[in-house]
Amino acid sequence: MKIIMLGAPGAGKGTQAKLLSDKYSIPHISTGDIFRANIKEGTELGKKAKEYMDAGALVPDELTVDLVIDRIGREDCAKGYILDGFPRTINQAQKLTEALAETGDIDFAVNVDVPDEAIIDRMSGRRVCPACGASYHVVNIPTKVEGICDRCGAAVIQRDDDKAETVKKRLDVYHEQTQPLIDYYREKGKEVEIDGTQSMENVFTSIVEKIGE
Ligand code: AMP
Repeated sequence: MKIIMLGAPGAGKGTQAKLLSDKYSIPHISTGDIFRANIKEGTELGKKAKEYMDAGALVPDELTVDLVIDRIGREDCAKGYILDGFPRTINQAQKLTEALAETGDIDFAVNVDVPDEAIIDRMSGRRVCPACGASYHVVNIPTKVEGICDRCGAAVIQRDDDKAETVKKRLDVYHEQTQPLIDYYREKGKEVEIDGTQSMENVFTSIVEKIGE
């Protein structure tokens, strides 16, 4: 099963992608995670991507498309995968469609729909663990001990691109460049609409109900 997660930054795509990856036993591929790992390792790609990410802008397609096409061609993707954060532009979507011409197009584009106000609230409260990747929210999913990761004990941080100004910019970028993908996949009959304001569990149940056990 090949699934794309659509939705604004902070809509909960990543969380749902992880749950779906466990359920269907297919890899979760997050371009944001790949870029962050490269930044951490200090690679050339990481250095280039960081400039754009810190500004709330999209990393150019030249640095993004081949990376994903290569990743989904690997053996662990033979039974499918969940793409989280890609495609983010019509050009990326078209490149993906072309790349899948022979092996078969994606099965579902899951659109996790959350209004902007709720996104701003969620992202400004989001905290992540730089050591193990666990994700929290100061109000909705607090750590047991303030500021400390429940899972590994490291100090949790706010991602640079979750800061208020950057969040607004990322939402603008989303509306301009990524939202048109909803129509792109709707026209292909692949779009599945999910109310992302529900609890994490209910969002997951709604997705599974629509795409099948
Ligand atoms: P995310 O973790 O998906 O919210 O991604 C964080 C940041 O990584 C985004 O704001 C972009 O700067 C960059 N990024 C992630 N995926 C893509 C993509 N498909 N195309 C361009 N930039 C991306």
